Amino acid sequence: MSKKHKINTKLIHAGEPKKRYGGAVNMPIFQSSTFEFDGQTDYHGLKYIRLNNTPNHIALHEKLAALEGAEDALVTSSGMAAISTTLLTFLKSGDHFLAHESLYGGTHDLINKDFPDLGIECDFIDGCNPLSWEEKLRPETKLIYVETITNPLLDVLDLNSVNAFAKKNNLLSLIDNTFASPMNYRPIENGFDLSLYSATKYLNGHTDIVAGAVSGSEELVTEIRHKLNHFGGSLDPNACFLMYRGIKTLGIRMERQNYNSLKIAKFLKNHPKVRSVNHPGLESSSSHERANDFLEGYGGMVSFEIEGSVDDADTFISKLTLFINAPSLGGVESLVTRPVQTSHSGMSPKERMKSGIKDELIRLSIGIEDAEDLIADLDQALEKIKNNTPDD
Ligand code: PLP
Repeated sequence: MSKKHKINTKLIHAGEPKKRYGGAVNMPIFQSSTFEFDGQTDYHGLKYIRLNNTPNHIALHEKLAALEGAEDALVTSSGMAAISTTLLTFLKSGDHFLAHESLYGGTHDLINKDFPDLGIECDFIDGCNPLSWEEKLRPETKLIYVETITNPLLDVLDLNSVNAFAKKNNLLSLIDNTFASPMNYRPIENGFDLSLYSATKYLNGHTDIVAGAVSGSEELVTEIRHKLNHFGGSLDPNACFLMYRGIKTLGIRMERQNYNSLKIAKFLKNHPKVRSVNHPGLESSSSHERANDFLEGYGGMVSFEIEGSVDDADTFISKLTLFINAPSLGGVESLVTRPVQTSHSGMSPKERMKSGIKDELIRLSIGIEDAEDLIADLDQALEKIKNNTPDD
């Protein structure tokens, strides 16, 4: 597919087979675990689902690489499979790396609870404060790992400085771009070495599969692919098919989610029962300038604290009628959660406090419903909280 095409055209046409299988306009599912031997001389070239090379994988890899402006891409059985396999491709016992201090809870747990047993060490850094990074470097530091928009406080990190720092110090730069999606930020085009996703979220967008992805240069992605072939975290062709279908509507979904979430953030910001709102599109956000510098859209997430206790937050959540109380994010339907109960429950209270994640914090994943209906739902649920004052 030509590089000159814009991203919405690539969403639909990139990765399509040159000759349509049986003339099928839609990419069919190749639900076959193995394929006829074709004289391959390399183990990784054998056609087998675990080796990530069925026609469904190949189509998806091409589409993702085109969207990202990357040479190559790879899909995995979950976002965590993409993250763990990628990190373990480039880190071995005795190695050290830097990571932003407030990461997705699962990644944080992997780094804190599993990596020490493997002899891999990490120092956490403040991704918004580049001057503090140098002192954490060691001779054995191999890479730097960040997220584009952090979960659940929605900070936008100093992404250009991460890249410059990585290049200056000969580190690989890795970014979890799940919250932005390629519509709002394209890490490879912006100089990152590897861009990672929980494709469970915006990329697929329909809350019906768990999947992951990574893209970058052919050399780096081939190394990760070989590791994944050994670790075994491959995506089933049926899930590949669903993800391929889901990605086609990423552009229009994300446009609507960018729009809805900003409207909702502004509504909450002006509500007397809301103490604080996190959204990079708000002028009051400490990330607003960086968001304008780096992103093409602010994303579909909002988090906030109400004036009240944890019980009040739970009352509010229980009174919502359109928002579903569930973990995860990025689907067409709006979800609500208290991260302390779900995505960040693996962090200790001390770690959460250090990262600024309070027990009463509420996180919204905004879907593609009509913003007015979502706002009316939030409004009626806020009205049901007893009348607290900040000093209660
Ligand atoms: N990265 C981010 C930012 C996430 O929010 C999540 C899941 O919520 C993951 C990675 C892990 O993805 P998965 O659940 O697909 O393994």
